[in-house]
Amino acid sequence: HSTLLKVSGLKQYFPIKGGFFGGKVNDVKAVDDISFEVNEGETVSIVGESGCGKSTTGRSILRFETPTAGEVIFDGTNLTTVSKKELKQLRSELQIIFQDPYASLNPRQTVRQILYEAIDIQKVVPKGEREDYLFELLELVGIQPSQADRFPHEFSGGQRQRIGIARALSVKPKLIICDEAVSALDVSIQAQVLNLLKKLQREMGLTYLFIAHDLGVVRHISDKIIVMYLGKIVEMGDSEEIFENPQHPYTKALLSAIPVPNPKKKSQRILLKGDVPSPMNVPSGCRFHTRCPFATEYCAKKVPELRTPNDQETVNHVAACHYMEEIDFSSLEYSKNV
Ligand code: SF4
Ligand code: MG
Repeated sequence: HSTLLKVSGLKQYFPIKGGFFGGKVNDVKAVDDISFEVNEGETVSIVGESGCGKSTTGRSILRFETPTAGEVIFDGTNLTTVSKKELKQLRSELQIIFQDPYASLNPRQTVRQILYEAIDIQKVVPKGEREDYLFELLELVGIQPSQADRFPHEFSGGQRQRIGIARALSVKPKLIICDEAVSALDVSIQAQVLNLLKKLQREMGLTYLFIAHDLGVVRHISDKIIVMYLGKIVEMGDSEEIFENPQHPYTKALLSAIPVPNPKKKSQRILLKGDVPSPMNVPSGCRFHTRCPFATEYCAKKVPELRTPNDQETVNHVAACHYMEEIDFSSLEYSKNV
């Protein structure tokens, strides 16, 4: 597998003018020095609570925002330095699907118009072949071609997401970033859309970067998982490793929050203290120390680096916790059936 996307040392800071007295400038460190790779044909998921920087990471890769520092290499091209013109040409190779397709589909355009617009901008097929191509795309995502002249509001949420997917596919991308693409959908519809995305991946050799707040949603589609907390990667590795052998207390807490399908089995949800701190005021040392049940004074002083756990050198898995080899999760108090 060759590397399609390589993100190195990516930082995305947003300057904020300070308080009532003005003048003082703080940076919101939305993404703070993250590195990862996505291989061709893979699905990599970035997971974390809102404010962890996962969406900003997606937007920085697409250069909706120019990164403060770092590099994004896509298929051999450095996206952080290419000209606007080159970037526009690359747009067909990199697509994004949003959580709310309704907000990103023009309500005054029919499905046909929406897709023709995308097809024409990138000159995917000659005008005379547009209709055949349109029908082909709609069939691919499970929308009846006879519905091509309807408006977005005439479709259900799941169907609208299928239209969003058809639009992304219409320009023949290599990489699709799915930003909470199924989060707003009912569980059964979620599964259908995820299955569709999987099928399309197999058939078209697509690569996905999935952005989600819920580990449960990405479980069955991810090859690799990246867990973010307050702008940093706290754990990353093969999906199976993350689910079967989590090392970071934050990952463990996220895993414990996945609903248990069997109502007789007691939920063992780990309750974290407090809320996610503001990215304007990130805690010293390990950023998770204000909420971590295992934090020591040392954790507040020293930033833990991402590293392979001592006993697993051969596995594709890294985490950033000083004590990951020693932590005994069974010592935690679990909440009573949340
Ligand atoms: Fe918790 Fe300390 Fe590990 Fe951070 S380094 S996750 S605070 S034990
Ligand atoms: Mg988001």
